[in-house]
Amino acid sequence: MTTDLTRSTAAELADLLAQGSVSARDVARAHLDRTAAVDGDVHSYLHVDAEGALAQADAVDRRRAAGEPLHALAGVPIAVKDVMTTRGLPTTCGSRILQGWVPPYDATLVTRLRGAGMPILGKTNMDEFAMGSSTEHSAYGPSRNPWDLERIPGGSGGGSSSVVASFQAPLAIGTDTGGSIRQPAAVTGTVGTKPTYGGVSRYGLVALASSLDQAGPCTRTVLDAALLHELIGGHDPMDSTSIDAPVPPVVEAARRADVAGLRIGIVRELTGEGFQAGVQARFDEAVQHLVDAGAEVVEVSCPSFTYALAAYYLILPSEASSNLAKFDAMRYGLRVAPEGVDEPSAEQVMAATRDAGFGDEVKRRIILGTYALSSGYYDAYYGSAQKVRRLIADDFTRAFETADVLVSPTAPTTAFRFGDKLDDPMAMYLNDIATIPANLAGIPGMSVPSGLAEEDGLPAGFQILAPAMQDHRLYAVGAALEARLTAAWGGALLDRAPALATTKEA
Ligand code: GLN
Repeated sequence: MTTDLTRSTAAELADLLAQGSVSARDVARAHLDRTAAVDGDVHSYLHVDAEGALAQADAVDRRRAAGEPLHALAGVPIAVKDVMTTRGLPTTCGSRILQGWVPPYDATLVTRLRGAGMPILGKTNMDEFAMGSSTEHSAYGPSRNPWDLERIPGGSGGGSSSVVASFQAPLAIGTDTGGSIRQPAAVTGTVGTKPTYGGVSRYGLVALASSLDQAGPCTRTVLDAALLHELIGGHDPMDSTSIDAPVPPVVEAARRADVAGLRIGIVRELTGEGFQAGVQARFDEAVQHLVDAGAEVVEVSCPSFTYALAAYYLILPSEASSNLAKFDAMRYGLRVAPEGVDEPSAEQVMAATRDAGFGDEVKRRIILGTYALSSGYYDAYYGSAQKVRRLIADDFTRAFETADVLVSPTAPTTAFRFGDKLDDPMAMYLNDIATIPANLAGIPGMSVPSGLAEEDGLPAGFQILAPAMQDHRLYAVGAALEARLTAAWGGALLDRAPALATTKEA
């Protein structure tokens, strides 16, 4: 047992809490103290709710003392990406346009966290409206990578990856529209799962692209991800795209970690050229570990993946331009009066507010999406992208005939430096080359750490993909790999993060 509660996994904390060795208040307090010490450097949070978290922790302690039956994760604290609505807690989506907005309702998954007695520590930073791969598009300044504070923690959910990587929370919620759970996990040496589309309710997830968005766990271990996935997953009548079926047996799969006889498909289009040498090397080793654990390797080809990025950057902006139309200065957050106009019209207020409230990347995508959906171009752009989307789903269907799971590096490179890709949207978009196909097809995906790239000493990610509603396969493979790699490293990868050692003393 570790004495520093912030170093414990969620599963370990759950055990300590159940045994009565620690109180939920102690656990929440330890994490809040850690935040006070390090978040000035890391900037994972947009809002910390110390008072609320401690009150929720006290409530759990009282219920436990009274002998009430409690959820296994009761008293384990969590951080939530600022794109999920939280009643009474600010929700900004990393945007100025929602500054000061306090939602009157909880997202379904937040209701489930609260119902399980999990104290909510705060809301994590993100690229504005989840558009980006670095958190540099947050209107409130970027989050930093605990491995190197001069580098990005991934995006859009860099707040949720860095909050667990810097031991400020054992668990966090992220959302993944094109990779925003998996890519941040990859570059911070943490674990992230994007569940099957419809597997976790989107009610209260402020929509970026409704047909792609999916919330999921950001954690330090595969088992922790499974425990959280099991809680937040499952049918919700408030979300019309929610799947009415039991949550796949993710916890059991994570505990068994059995890959004997499993066919692992290496996606030819997602390896080799364009991938950093050290990222590719860690990927190859990880595959060998899975073979040693009894898995079989096959090579698969998904030729339509070449067009995935292009299709995504038409479908996403199209949906986003429509979803973001609701920020009209009348209903939420910011309202700006146009300068030099005595009695401005509603349209003038709307234009001034959107001009001041949205950042450049959001404006870029609204313009792109509006264009792609305009009557003269609808078929040429949006229509063609939807056809490509079908071809990508067909590629997956074919690949899953010969493989039980597909694997690739999660992101082409390790964490890059701030500013490196900010002025080049295409370079930023290319980060998601390996993660986007899963969103277009609605299938589940996970990123687990595969080790450190020798050229820069930074973490690389290993991506696992499975057919829809076979999320448990991700956990079997992820846990098997984690067990072998942790043994090979002689401990968890995060124990080697150099920046963490400095900030720990702070
Ligand atoms: N980086 C991708 C984008 O900018 C993915 C975003 C996400 O998954 N929310 O769209």
